[in-house]
Amino acid sequence: MKKLLCLITLIIGLGTFSTVQAKKVTWVKAQGEASFPILMYHSIDNVPGNGLCVPKEQLEEEMAWLHKNDYYTLTPKQAIRVLTKNEVPKDKKIVWITFDDGYANNYTVALPILKKYKLKATVNMITSSINTNGMLTTDQIKKMQKTKLISFESHTVRHVDLRTLTPEQQDNEAVDSKRTLQKDFGINSRSYCYPAGRYNDYSKVSAKNAGYKVALTTQPGWAKASDGLYDLKRVRIPAQMTLDSFIESVAYK
Ligand SMILES: [Zn+2]
Repeated sequence: MKKLLCLITLIIGLGTFSTVQAKKVTWVKAQGEASFPILMYHSIDNVPGNGLCVPKEQLEEEMAWLHKNDYYTLTPKQAIRVLTKNEVPKDKKIVWITFDDGYANNYTVALPILKKYKLKATVNMITSSINTNGMLTTDQIKKMQKTKLISFESHTVRHVDLRTLTPEQQDNEAVDSKRTLQKDFGINSRSYCYPAGRYNDYSKVSAKNAGYKVALTTQPGWAKASDGLYDLKRVRIPAQMTLDSFIESVAYK
């Protein structure tokens, strides 16, 4: 029995060691311009006919694939480092996983899957939706923060078409959402996500003035600095996407 216990302890010990080792990354200058996929998810739910709601089983399959293929998931801070300094984690296939809007199922459904595969992700929050029906609560956000896997960034206050707003109103969306994340959760939001990908030239100025380092759109493609730090492309993951097309959209060639 004692021997068995020792063996178990050893195995657990080795497991912890390898996990810690795996986390260590060395940052190096990228060869050429760094470019990587920013995945865009929304609600994780089974709603037939709604292309934005990805079923749990699909998310699980995609996250398992990223894990199995040794992808390195970026925090917003790390993604910004890649984009602003052209530095990358050495020998890693990098990906930034994002969830827009802040659905409660990001906590109930997505979080257990992300935990299972130890993948980091970012939720882009509509700050006026916090604690409203079907959306994340203050308590859930705090619990997600504690996992160290999930980051939160701004997706404006009200999720309205920024193009229809005056410059002052656009500034309020950028500034007030940032302020709420700071005040209620101690988050320094550095990344801004335009509602439904709708924005104009002033939205970029407004994001920059508010202190965001980058902004995310819904234009399809991999992110790279030369597209503009406030015009970053993302890879939309629609419901019923096949695993083959998922692989195709995130594969490093
Ligand atoms: Zn949205």
